[in-house]
Amino acid sequence: MSDKIKKAGTLLVVSGPSGSGKSTLCGELRKRLPELYFSVSCTTRNPRPGEAHGVHYYYISKDEFERRIADGEFIEYARVFDNYYGTLYSEVAERIKNGQDVFLDIDVQGAMQIRKRADEDEFLKRCVEFIFIAPPSYDVLEHRLRKRGTENEDVIKKRLAESSKEMEYWDKYDYLILNDKLEEAADEFFNLVSSFKNSTRRIPDIGFYYGRD
Ligand code: 5GP
Repeated sequence: MSDKIKKAGTLLVVSGPSGSGKSTLCGELRKRLPELYFSVSCTTRNPRPGEAHGVHYYYISKDEFERRIADGEFIEYARVFDNYYGTLYSEVAERIKNGQDVFLDIDVQGAMQIRKRADEDEFLKRCVEFIFIAPPSYDVLEHRLRKRGTENEDVIKKRLAESSKEMEYWDKYDYLILNDKLEEAADEFFNLVSSFKNSTRRIPDIGFYYGRD
C-alpha cells in the first residue's frame, strides 16, 4: 500500500442573469481551459436545435427528475423558467476528490443550496468558489436582452424581471466579474479561475484528502 497525498479540485459555481453575457464568457473559458470539466446538468426542458443529450444536458422527463430528487441524486436543483434543472453528485464528487476542477453554470437558487451545504460540509467548503457574472448596469442588461430580438415584449419583460431578481444575489458570491467589455471580462474570468489552481487553501490537511491505494 502506498500513501499518496492528493490535492482536491475546485468546484466553481458560476451564476449570472440572462443578459450578463455569462454564456459567452463560459464558452470562452471552455476554449482557454480545456482541462476544466463542465458539469452536465439534468433538465426537463426540451433540447434546442444543435443541443445533444449528454453533451449540453441530460434531457429527462419530469417524472424521472422527481424520482432522482427522491433518491437524493442531486447536489442542488431548482425550477428555472418553469423547468427543473439540477446537478448530479455523480458529475461532481469523484472528480473533485481526484483533483479535477469542475465548473457549474447554475442559477442563483442552486448556488445558494450549494452555499448552504458548504456551511455544513468541511470538504465542500474548502473546494468551492462562488463567482457572479453581472452586466455593468441595468440599462446594459435591458439593451442586451432586447438586442437578441428573438422574443416578443412579454417574454422580454419576463426575462427582465427574472434577471433583476437574480441580480439581487450578486453580493452573496465571493467574486464578481463585471462584463462591460467582453475581452477584458474574459481575461479577468480566465485569470480568476486559473488562480484557484495554485490556492494554498486547498493544501490537504484533513484526512479526507489523503488517498490511499
Ligand atoms: P438554459 O435553459 O438557457 O440552458 O438555462 C437556463 C438557466 O438554468 C441558466 O441560468 C442556467 O445557469 C441554469 N441552469 C442550468 N443548469 C442548471 C442546474 O443544474 N441547476 C440550476 N440550479 N440551474 C441550472
